[in-house]
Amino acid sequence: MLDYAHARKMMVLNHITKRGVEDVSVLAAMEEVPRERFVEPGMEEFAYDDTPLPIGSGQTISQPFVVAMMIEAAGVKPGDKVLEVGAGSGYAAAVLSRIAGSVYAIERHARLAERARARLAGLGYDNVRVRTGDGTAGWAEEAPFDAIIVSAAGTTVPQALRDQLDIGGCMVIPVEDAAQHQQLMRITRTSATAFEDVYLGSVAFVPLVGGQEPAGNDTAAAFHHHAPSATLPQMIARAAEKLPELGDEAFGRLFDRFADRRIVLLGEASHGTSEFYRARAAITRRLVEEHGFDFVAVEADWPDAAAIGRHVKGLPPRPDAPPFQRFPAWMWRNTQVSAFVRWLHGHNAKREGPAHRAGFYGLDIYNMSASIEAVLTYLDRIDREAAAAARERYGCLTPWQREPSTYGRAMLTSGYRKCEEAVIAQCRDLLAKELEYAAHDGEGYLDAVQNARLVKAAEEYYRIMYYGGAEAWNLRDRHMFETLEHVLEAHGPQARAVVWAHNSHIGDARHTEMGQIRSELNVGQLCRERFGDDVALIGFGTHEGTVAAADDWGGPMRVKTVRPSHEESYETLFHAAGGGRFLVDFARQGQLADALAPMRLERFIGVIYRPETEVESHYALASLSRQFDAFVWFDRTSAVTPFGTSQAGGVPDTFPFGV
Ligand code: SAH
Repeated sequence: MLDYAHARKMMVLNHITKRGVEDVSVLAAMEEVPRERFVEPGMEEFAYDDTPLPIGSGQTISQPFVVAMMIEAAGVKPGDKVLEVGAGSGYAAAVLSRIAGSVYAIERHARLAERARARLAGLGYDNVRVRTGDGTAGWAEEAPFDAIIVSAAGTTVPQALRDQLDIGGCMVIPVEDAAQHQQLMRITRTSATAFEDVYLGSVAFVPLVGGQEPAGNDTAAAFHHHAPSATLPQMIARAAEKLPELGDEAFGRLFDRFADRRIVLLGEASHGTSEFYRARAAITRRLVEEHGFDFVAVEADWPDAAAIGRHVKGLPPRPDAPPFQRFPAWMWRNTQVSAFVRWLHGHNAKREGPAHRAGFYGLDIYNMSASIEAVLTYLDRIDREAAAAARERYGCLTPWQREPSTYGRAMLTSGYRKCEEAVIAQCRDLLAKELEYAAHDGEGYLDAVQNARLVKAAEEYYRIMYYGGAEAWNLRDRHMFETLEHVLEAHGPQARAVVWAHNSHIGDARHTEMGQIRSELNVGQLCRERFGDDVALIGFGTHEGTVAAADDWGGPMRVKTVRPSHEESYETLFHAAGGGRFLVDFARQGQLADALAPMRLERFIGVIYRPETEVESHYALASLSRQFDAFVWFDRTSAVTPFGTSQAGGVPDTFPFGV
């Protein structure tokens, strides 16, 4: 049994206080209301994550931070009479009722309203009334209100709600603009006729249905708004460019349109799907072979990928530990990746000199101990004195090398010394020696410096990871982006790259729940911010099939069945478009891009897949056509084919050299 009171305290501290909500009555109310009682049965364990959760009828319970921030922004005080539009689960109304004198909440779904009423009564919160109806008309009999909170986003502020605001009262309401960006607005009534409007920032709410907009099915309403003559699946089917079979040379040709970009980023909707790897291999092959792209950079650890990088460039192997031993080894130790590596090696073998050969690099941060080893081995080779100093500095991290995730906790609870200064100094020293060292061997120097940068980033990552929140994710994605920049720089001003990483890293975070609700950024966003139209962000998706994934972090890989996509997801629209394999290019399909911009559920499967709690663990809201420039669809997909991570698996530890 979870300790909900503790979880609630932590939620208030980590997600609400730390993000700037100060009003003590709001914080006390958030600590009092048992949010687990407002979520669907079976979802209680997620009640204190700072995310919206589904509550049935296609609606969501508001995210705790947003509830707190809205109530604070509205300036709700003891004794106030408050209206909430969009009662949903009744959670926000419950929080309001702990502060205000009386709360009037309207919900258009009768079933939700009824259940909200029962929950509030069960908790003895008897100063709240919930009624079923269209909240855009307000609750005239009880007006005026000291505050109005609107928990769903419309394109306009309903006049009835302005009218029902008392003078001096405040309304907080999300409003969506023509580009489907939602902004939170605070409207203060300063006199009988005057209102003062202030924008408070970006948000993501479900649609406010009512007033001018047609009632009934939300999806149908949204769709009628955009495209009167066809359903969304029909529009997708019309826009779809069929893709040839994966083995067919012609597959990559459809992606020639992106060959003028500096960076083509290729996503994946899981870390264990064969089709995503094979498609990315086919596209990359085309971009390298026909269009001269310089390297591929993947969501793998730098030192591990470097072993592959040396192999494909025909450089002698180093006596390092075999690459990709760490969980999740199947991401790289699989037959789909080895076929690509074999091809790249063969392609490069035909070109004279390593400088003309296409590279293979890792952007990720996790293998700190291999990076430490790599820096030391490098310095042993070229500067023994500097190697001794580096050993001393990295010694600070020795206790945590095997299990770096315990580093953050230890920094808090015991007298261990923080290693920050040591790893920064080491990185600085290597950079200062660039001229001297790089003259020996440029590729070797780039490798050593990137490893030193990785150790510096990983030290901070593991230190702050312990606190949870957006900072650790942001640090990792920033590191991946900066690594990409460094590798581009090392290849000269004209250098061009293909990137392979998960959709969650590649799809512009500003158009997803990650960015809008959790303040997370990612590689795709940073690439667009720095390189603008010189990048292409290409997402991948599937409806059903199998996937290689684990139950828990560090657990064994299993081949799992991917559930058919959720009925409110983008995936279900693509499935309904007729299935098969196809590409949708949003730049060429403006009308479809607009129709797919309103936020919907999108599936994200990582190295862990938990079909039992799929909606909560694997779906998030996103705006597909803003997040990506194009989307590649495989209706049915299958798991990657892994090798064993040891000799017992049949494939030797010499991967990639032995296969
Ligand atoms: N505050 C709620 C979150 C609800 S989500 C909570 O804490 O659980 C928004 C809700 O607004 C949905 O339940 C949706 O059905 C409702 N809604 C949308 N348009 C509405 C309208 N015009 N009138 C009343 N409710 C509306």
